[in-house]
Amino acid sequence: MPAIRVHDKNFDVYLSEFEIQQRIKEMADAINKDYKGKKVYFIAILNGSFMFAADMFKCLTVESEICFIKLVSYKGLKSSGDVATTIGLDEDLHQKHVIILEDIIDTGKTMHYFLPKLFHQQPASLKIAALLHKAEMTQYDIPIDYTGFVIPNKFVVGYGLDYDGLGRNYRDIYQLAD
Ligand code: 5GP
Ligand code: MG
Repeated sequence: MPAIRVHDKNFDVYLSEFEIQQRIKEMADAINKDYKGKKVYFIAILNGSFMFAADMFKCLTVESEICFIKLVSYKGLKSSGDVATTIGLDEDLHQKHVIILEDIIDTGKTMHYFLPKLFHQQPASLKIAALLHKAEMTQYDIPIDYTGFVIPNKFVVGYGLDYDGLGRNYRDIYQLAD
């Protein structure tokens, strides 16, 4: 298996580009079916979700709008615990069908912080699509309506996900080597 080095750490391939694209297509098919005849407003969480959001968006056939917002909770390999909005949401979500696009849900703290802010605007519906879910790590009750892959508690990079700023450019997803 080809391995990569990002900063001081080695990573092995975990999910191939093919597997990722297949799964995103399946997730998009489910959304296309569930929201048939409706208009969907997607909120993609930067930075990590930019590739997922772009590939998902290309597979959608329902009427779709998208915006990008930025929330930060991670420094290096560990969650810093604090969630800070750095690029705000300026759209009115009232009566809109909203789907959040998130690269990975780990402790769930980011979503736990963010969801009430969205509910406050009284959307018609609110769902979460997450490409990756570290299910054993999640400490909050976060309803994930569309999950790409449930993964173990190992740090991953690639396909938009970084390790201290680097590693986002890879097409595959890599896991920290033992
Ligand atoms: P949570 O708030 O659920 O603990 O963490 C969510 C955010 O932490 C994700 O959006 C992502 O930016 C970051 N994160 C969590 N696990 C990983 C990981 O294994 N690799 C990378 N690169 N980021 C992660
Ligand atoms: Mg993220």
